[in-house]
Amino acid sequence: MERKRIYLSSPTMHGKEQEFVKEAFDTNWVAPLGPNVDGFEKELAEYVGISHAAALASGTAAIHLALKLLGVKEGDVVFSPTLTFSATCNPIVYEKATPVFIDSETDTWNMSPEALERAFEKYPAPKAVIVVHLYGTCAKLDEIMDICKAHGTVLVEDAAESLGSTYKGKHTGTFGKLGIYSFNGNKIITTSGGGMLVSEDEEMIKKARFLSTQARDPARHYQHSQIGYNYRMSNITAGIGRGQLLSLEEHKRLKKAIYEKYKEAFADIPEIQMNPLNPDGDDNCWLSGMALEKGCKVTADMVLDALEAENIEARPIWKPMHLQPVFESCDFITLGKNGESVAEDIFNRGLCLPSDIKNTEEDMERIIGIIRDLFA
Ligand SMILES: *Cc1c(COP(=O)(O)O)cnc(C)c1O
Repeated sequence: MERKRIYLSSPTMHGKEQEFVKEAFDTNWVAPLGPNVDGFEKELAEYVGISHAAALASGTAAIHLALKLLGVKEGDVVFSPTLTFSATCNPIVYEKATPVFIDSETDTWNMSPEALERAFEKYPAPKAVIVVHLYGTCAKLDEIMDICKAHGTVLVEDAAESLGSTYKGKHTGTFGKLGIYSFNGNKIITTSGGGMLVSEDEEMIKKARFLSTQARDPARHYQHSQIGYNYRMSNITAGIGRGQLLSLEEHKRLKKAIYEKYKEAFADIPEIQMNPLNPDGDDNCWLSGMALEKGCKVTADMVLDALEAENIEARPIWKPMHLQPVFESCDFITLGKNGESVAEDIFNRGLCLPSDIKNTEEDMERIIGIIRDLFA
């Protein structure tokens, strides 16, 4: 018999989502926009502690609009971490600007402040810096914000993976001039697909709503003086989001428990290091990951193969952007002065473990047992 599939991170619904969606149907707010969109924006903004939010079709759309609002255009340079998902930097290219990739540091696996500082020596005036909180672990925000401030560059926070993570008591996504969240199917809460752009700057969020609804000028007829986008979240989707938001804290608690369970289970295997958490943060532990010690006879591929053979979904670490064929021509600032890359090293030695909050105690034992067997 085929063993039950164990997932990396799949949607977890609770029932409240359907109540919001049902209400939208009952009141015929099936058309775009409506009370769920307004409600979701307000409730999410309250949860993270920011003044303004615009609900959008995806996290990628939110990053794209963030760059548009900052005036990123052809010829501009934008700094992005190399160790991230491609959606962080694709929008830089949508605007014909040039991504420059920054290496990771070992403490959090996120953008290295030291490499960032070096990037400014080579490119003194990037239009923006995008920081990512990979797998939910907070980047070194104090250091990164200080560097951005010293160089007069705005910070955009891609908090797609870190909704619910806090750094020194403040939510990730609220540190930059603009912050973005994603509600894609695998994220800590999901709307099936969606995103949110947040800021303290009311004008920017108003402008984002304008651009995301086809940039219609106030006129009776359709009139446009700018190029717009169809990037708004629908009222049905926002209903799912309102329901999910009620369970975000519970999801975070369960994700953290998964991380702790793995950490404890592998504590006696010195070749295994769990992905780092930020001691200045309360991380959401969206995905638990591990790195195998250099020279370890068990490789990340062996762990992935062993899990896949048992119908268990795990995944390699996100392949760094500077190694992607599509970004081949982009510059990459390494942490090592001789070109050694921390991000590449993490990619080579690491993997993401199943982190689905519906996994049972038994599922966790199965996963742990398979991995432990490789070290027996
Ligand atoms: C998921 C993700 C995104 C994109 O979000 P979508 O809602 O899928 O468009 C952006 N950045 C990172 C780091 C992500 O993990």
